Amino acid sequence: MAKQKTSKAYIPTIGIECHVQLKTQTKLFAAVGNDAREAEPNSLISHICFGMPGALPVLNKKVVEYAMQMAFAFNTMPQKESYFERKHYFYPDLPKGYQITQLTKPIIVGGTVTIEVDGHKKDVQLNRVQIEEDAGKNTHPAGADYSLVDLNRAGTPLLEIVSDPELSSPAEAKAYARELYLLVRYAGVSDADLYHGNMRFDVNVSLSDQEGVLGTRTETKNLNSFKSVEKAVEFEIARQNKLLETGEKIVQETRGWDDAKQATVSQRGKEEAHDYRYFPDPDLPPIILNDDEISNAQKQLPPMPSEWRERLSKLTIDTSHIETLLEAELEVEGISYLSDIVARNEDIELAKILANWFVNIEIPLRRDESQQVNLDDPDTRRRLYDAAATLVANNKLSSTNAKALITTILVSGATPKNIEKYAEEQGLIQVSDEAEIAKIVADVLKENESAAVDVKNGEMKAIGFLVGQVMKASRGKANPQMAQVLIRKQLDIT
Ligand code: MN
Repeated sequence: MAKQKTSKAYIPTIGIECHVQLKTQTKLFAAVGNDAREAEPNSLISHICFGMPGALPVLNKKVVEYAMQMAFAFNTMPQKESYFERKHYFYPDLPKGYQITQLTKPIIVGGTVTIEVDGHKKDVQLNRVQIEEDAGKNTHPAGADYSLVDLNRAGTPLLEIVSDPELSSPAEAKAYARELYLLVRYAGVSDADLYHGNMRFDVNVSLSDQEGVLGTRTETKNLNSFKSVEKAVEFEIARQNKLLETGEKIVQETRGWDDAKQATVSQRGKEEAHDYRYFPDPDLPPIILNDDEISNAQKQLPPMPSEWRERLSKLTIDTSHIETLLEAELEVEGISYLSDIVARNEDIELAKILANWFVNIEIPLRRDESQQVNLDDPDTRRRLYDAAATLVANNKLSSTNAKALITTILVSGATPKNIEKYAEEQGLIQVSDEAEIAKIVADVLKENESAAVDVKNGEMKAIGFLVGQVMKASRGKANPQMAQVLIRKQLDIT
């Protein structure tokens, strides 16, 4: 009898290396500008960037400060002693013939990044974080028989953040990438502009049919979005699964991501560390940190996402709202949704309403490219939200009209002295004048006799219809609770 082939369950293991460009004024070892996004090719270079004979690198202190802060962001301490090594390889975008990086003693060893997927929290251990310089950029113009080299990026300071292989699904890989992004942005050490390659992810994926034993891994390099991290992991798991099921071997190799095809593609065989002939850079002294420098870096670290999550959870704000707010906070300068909410921590209801309005009104409005927010006066913005909350609490503003009021002021940029008066002028204030609503109710009952009879006969569905008619007749301004009470009163039912 032929042996039946059974499908084995393979366990995926994922590790991620991430390169983050630090937002220092100048490069890692040279006093030239570091923000190459808008610069002409080869305009941000010096003899140090392309390793002229005799050029001596000088370490940028700010890079060390940023690295120290990230150690605390990763819940650990920076190493008191670390040093630089040369990693040798030849490539046209690396004219020195070596990259200055850290290997034996990096500035951060260990640390954790906490992720949450489907309500399940996981502390992902970091292996190491090293300081290193970036290479330049080669471009290959279509149809031309030459290539171009731009060295603006050569010597830009990077942190390479290496996780242990502890992630186990595409969703976890994506959550980890997003969390790293939030951490470097909240720490203020990087613009983390994914579009411009400020943050790049290399994902290592392997499958194994035995718990605790790692299979042969592939590394898919230079992913620049959370989505592509997720998709590349998903693709590699499926591809390797298929190979293993048909009895084929996984080749250890470097792969790339083809976004158009949504597939990983083989690029080259994997190098081993000894291929690079690492040795300590003789031009650079070791980085020795003292206790004062370390504690200063810790003090300078702004509130991290975990702290905001804790503060907002205490105000019983929904987890999904908190995550939206954490991301949106980074999208606009000059306002802080998180501080605005926390500033109202004496009044949990108000804080919750505010979070709700930010998530459902202001943030979508600012993200909508067809709309523009023109309100730039912080005082009006603060008064707007406070006034709107008070008006809603006093039944003077329906939630629909609160949205209209907030949107109108944000878009128009109006700065009214009295928000309530402005809402009234805009026809948004709810009519709670009993005599006025009673008159509308009487008219509505007269015009909708059959619905009125239905209500009298106990068909309570019809009462909703009548309230709707009152709202319509009042052009949305009647207080609906009051309308309902008056309908019952006039129909003589309780
Ligand atoms: Mn690297």
